[in-house]
Parts: sequence; C-alpha cells; structure tokens
Amino acid sequence: YFMAVAFLSAQRIKDSSSQVGACIVNQENKIVGIVYKGMPSGCDDDLLPWSRSADNKLDTKYPYVCHAELNAIMNKNSADVKGCTMYVALFPCNECAKLIIQAGIKDVICLSDKYHDTLEMTASRQLLNLAVVWVMSKHRVKVCICLILHRKIKPYQNTKYIWKNLSNQTIYSPH
Ligand SMILES: [Zn+2]
Repeated sequence: YFMAVAFLSAQRIKDSSSQVGACIVNQENKIVGIVYKGMPSGCDDDLLPWSRSADNKLDTKYPYVCHAELNAIMNKNSADVKGCTMYVALFPCNECAKLIIQAGIKDVICLSDKYHDTLEMTASRQLLNLAVVWVMSKHRVKVCICLILHRKIKPYQNTKYIWKNLSNQTIYSPH
C-alpha cells in the first residue's frame, strides 16, 4: 500500500522520464510524508530545464532538481522521522543516503535498483552499509532492496518480491 502511495505521488512529477515518489511511514504505520521529485519550492519549474542531456550541464535538470527523498524528509508533517520507514521507487543516491541516515530513518524499502553500478549508488551502499553496522548494536537498521521479479506486473499488486540485504543475501523469498 505505501509503495502504491509513493508511486501515485510520483505521477504528479513533471519529469516524465524518471518519476520517483517517496513516502515516509512511522512506527504506527501512519504516513508522515509523501513527496515526489521536483524543483525547489518557489523556483518556477517552467523556467528550469528538465532535459537529461545537454552540451552544458547547467541546461539539464540535474543541478536543480530535488530528489523525492529530500523533499519527503524536508516536508514531513511530524516532528522528526526517526525510526520511520521510507518507501521509495528507486534505490537512493549517495546524497539522499546521507539525508536518510542523518534523519534517522530506520528502513528504506525500494523497488528498483536500476542504477546499481553507478558511482552514486555504490557510494550510497557504502554509506548505508556503514550506518547499518554503526546502528546495529542499538536499533538495528535494516536496509532492504526489494527487487521486482516480474517487471510487467504492477509493482504493488501480486508482486513476488525478493528481499535482499545489502550484502546481497536473500532474507525473504516468497514461494
Ligand atoms: Zn537522491
């Protein structure tokens, strides 16, 4: 359900090439933040570029856009998000990993890890792994990568997930 909320909020994204939504849920299973990727508030997104490539990097979206994770943490409607779970479509990049760790988010559940081999994701995994080790003795942070087996099935319906920890060990596999 919460992943569905993350996906639904992502439909509002202007950038149709990568619609990433995020949803933060607290320990009572209440949603404390829903947000999608977008330009910083107050910045007219009609005046900023949305392209993925250009001769000048300043003419692409990348220097400007706020990832869904950042927006979700910043726009939370509770005092803090410590111990919360974040549902996000894509595995978080290194910048978002920093925010997630600093915000005290306990679990990250994502559906896709399609940029696994990029520098950002590799750094992100290192950070999240370290945070896991560091917090292990107290709260045991668990970061799960949820991979969709059958990509044609809607991600949040009748989906068979394999849950893996960051060391790529399967921790849950449905029959
Ligand atoms: Zn990010």
